[in-house]
Amino acid sequence: MSDKTFRILGREIKKGESVVMEIEVAKLHTRNKLTMPVIIERATREGPVLLLMGGVHGDETNGVAIVRDIIRKGYNKPKSGIVICIPVFNVFGYLNQQREFPDGRDLNRVFPGTAKGSLASQFAYKFTKEIAPLVDYILDFHTGGAGRENYPNVRCVFQEEKSLEMARVFGAPFVVNSSYIAKSIREAVHKMGKHLLLFEGGKSLALDPFVINCGVEGALNFMRYLKMKDGKVKSKPDPVLIKKSKWIRAPHAGLFLSLVKNGSWVKHKSVIGIISDPYGEFEKKVIAPFDCHIFGLNTAPIVNKGDAIFHVSMEVS
Ligand SMILES: [Zn+2]
Repeated sequence: MSDKTFRILGREIKKGESVVMEIEVAKLHTRNKLTMPVIIERATREGPVLLLMGGVHGDETNGVAIVRDIIRKGYNKPKSGIVICIPVFNVFGYLNQQREFPDGRDLNRVFPGTAKGSLASQFAYKFTKEIAPLVDYILDFHTGGAGRENYPNVRCVFQEEKSLEMARVFGAPFVVNSSYIAKSIREAVHKMGKHLLLFEGGKSLALDPFVINCGVEGALNFMRYLKMKDGKVKSKPDPVLIKKSKWIRAPHAGLFLSLVKNGSWVKHKSVIGIISDPYGEFEKKVIAPFDCHIFGLNTAPIVNKGDAIFHVSMEVS
């Protein structure tokens, strides 16, 4: 909870204040400073501290657009508490339109970071030391990587009651049981006793209005749940809870065409995709191995044998 004095990055944020700050991420070899804008809104009333962030992976533009829309619409101005927005978390990756940091590291695999580690690790350390301790809740907006498109979903550990409750409140069509990945932000902040909900929607280097809207509405629901906004939570009453999931892999190499829409429910043995060779010699069907929801789809036109092509539910509740 925000107390009377709230200091972030060496500056006090008073009640009712709107502040844009810049964190120095690095000094480039050109001597230019690289900074990361942080937008802070503090209400006049006490309340929780919520962090909204996108672009942990620099090519995941939907997440950036979600936080951007929230700011543009003024939804980040809370009725109580403090909202911190970081639309572009991985500024390096965003500049280069790529997932990684320039040192080749996946920022989401180096947390909590070290002061003298790789460039990504140093940045992770800065966040872990200077921002994470100040927040109570985090919404972290992602998209599928490498041409894989995710139907909007939130990920959490089902065994944790609070996480599941937060996931239901958000109101994405699917909630996916997902254990902590070592050295991810989610794992690092969980160890600090913070609550992080991870949103996945769409694919990298794309802007999908449906996904963006789902993320914005989810954030609003979450703020209503925390009483940082007026009104009732408007999430769908029954998201599909996916307890166990798997990727269906390409049984052959070739041109890949999905015959189903992402987000759809398919019956056992139905034909969900076609893989063909460029010479007109074969056309192989991809068959649904059981009744399942499809919530991730490979949009690559050409696949190798074994590539992940459909992310499907195995066990739902
Ligand atoms: Zn990501």
